[in-house]
Amino acid sequence: MSTLSTIKQSPTFTKELVADPNREVISRQVRDAHFSYVKPIAFDNPKLVHFSADLLTDLGVEVDDEELFLAAMSGNKLLDDFESYAMCYGGHQFGQWAGQLGDGRAINVFESKFKNGLQTLQLKGAGPTTYSRRADGFAVLRSSVREYLCSEAMYHLGVPTTRALSLVKSGELVTRDLLYDGNPKDEQGAVVCRVAPTFIRFGSFEILTARKDVKNLKKLADYTIKHFYPSFIDNDNKYLDFYKAVVIKTKDLIIDWMRVGFVHGVMNTDNLSILGLTIDYGPYGWLEDYDPTWTPNITDAQGRRYRFENQPNIALWNLMQLANALYPLIKDVAVLEAELERFKKEYLEDYNSMMLSKIGVFDSKNKHLIPELETLMFRSSLDYILFFRELSKNKELTPQAFVEILEMTSYLEKHELQEDIEKWKKWFSKYQEVLGKEKLSTEERSKKMKAINPKYVLRNYMAQLAIEASEKGDNSIIEELYQLLLNPYGEQPTMEKWYKKRPDWAKNKPGCSMLSCSS
Ligand code: AMP
Ligand code: MG
Repeated sequence: MSTLSTIKQSPTFTKELVADPNREVISRQVRDAHFSYVKPIAFDNPKLVHFSADLLTDLGVEVDDEELFLAAMSGNKLLDDFESYAMCYGGHQFGQWAGQLGDGRAINVFESKFKNGLQTLQLKGAGPTTYSRRADGFAVLRSSVREYLCSEAMYHLGVPTTRALSLVKSGELVTRDLLYDGNPKDEQGAVVCRVAPTFIRFGSFEILTARKDVKNLKKLADYTIKHFYPSFIDNDNKYLDFYKAVVIKTKDLIIDWMRVGFVHGVMNTDNLSILGLTIDYGPYGWLEDYDPTWTPNITDAQGRRYRFENQPNIALWNLMQLANALYPLIKDVAVLEAELERFKKEYLEDYNSMMLSKIGVFDSKNKHLIPELETLMFRSSLDYILFFRELSKNKELTPQAFVEILEMTSYLEKHELQEDIEKWKKWFSKYQEVLGKEKLSTEERSKKMKAINPKYVLRNYMAQLAIEASEKGDNSIIEELYQLLLNPYGEQPTMEKWYKKRPDWAKNKPGCSMLSCSS
């Protein structure tokens, strides 16, 4: 256990990679470097809203000085006089090369070896950087609550993610045009402290290749392999092995997102982590009524590039951009293409097994059950979380009990659902036949299903309730949801009020069904 007041840094990123020699914090293009030194701004009156006690335990840090904790989490004080910095990266946004992006409102404020390994602490919303372009470097409370709660929720769902250590109100106002309709408003500002082994993204490599800076590309790849893929360090084909590993991690991440019904909403290449972590919680959403074409991001409403069902295709597209970025180090198109082909094949296999396991079927030869199930779930507008969780209950499923599950989890009126019942009954009897051949007791099957079908996720309206209360100074819902989501697969009988369909009021409310990138 280390204490906050005596904690020691062990920087690797700034020590092993190339700094921008210019310390002037003016938005500009930064060439021949991986990062720029920049300090968070000082806020006069920051207030701690919440912190993750669970993450503190994982880091092995004891907060012996609460004032110092708040100062560090708001950016007013740098722990152990760390030299803070913002990272340079580029990216493809909505399929177009966007050039240099970089940490426009994120500043890495500490790096050390913690109990859970090498970790970087990053403040999001603590002021402008060299990469802020025309934006202000700040973040609003609304998007910060969403990032804070969802990062920790995802972690406890077992989905790889960056984590969140704290949520602080900056005490200052930030102006945002939430719906991009020419009505800007002042909102409360906030800072989230994110934590990850590294925040390197696909776009970190892309920017260097786009600038033909192979020297720094190689440095960044060597750094990433040394610290995060160390088993490849002595391999002859280490860059290819590294790329292969990223392909697998990214595929596994998407499978997890599909399993829990998470839609990232803005899978630009600057928002894909080189470690296969969920990163940059913006206009994300949770699938409620099953609609594979749903995207939570209003900016994406037209093209629906980032819709639920398209996430594997976009991951593949992004991996292709990463392949282009690493090409100068690998120089073999065929092997890179082979990896992309492998992604396609293995994703399909893994997706089918994952979906089968959600219905308690563990023999992949029964995959014919899945497309039919998806069509019916869509037709009958079933709640993605409730349906699979109800199916996971430890009870004999009679056709009648199954219809009751449909009624309980569908967003349709009873008479509308009635039209699909015959089709469902046919599917149900095939399903029962398959279950009959599997050698699991109802109890064993239920246990396995409950371990992968969460009971509680951060539904969009839940985050919205927490935000609206917090904006008025009441952080009790943040605390309640934080506690709830520590154990998303557990029963938690006192928390049943969060185990229900989206309420009607939330159906078309901004923040609940449609999310803005404005944050
Ligand atoms: P995102 O869509 O949130 O991943 O952001 C894309 C790019 O815009 C990144 O380079 C961000 O750092 C930058 N950005 C987003 N919001 C702000 C802001 N308020 N101030 C400065 N940069 C921002
Ligand atoms: Mg981003």
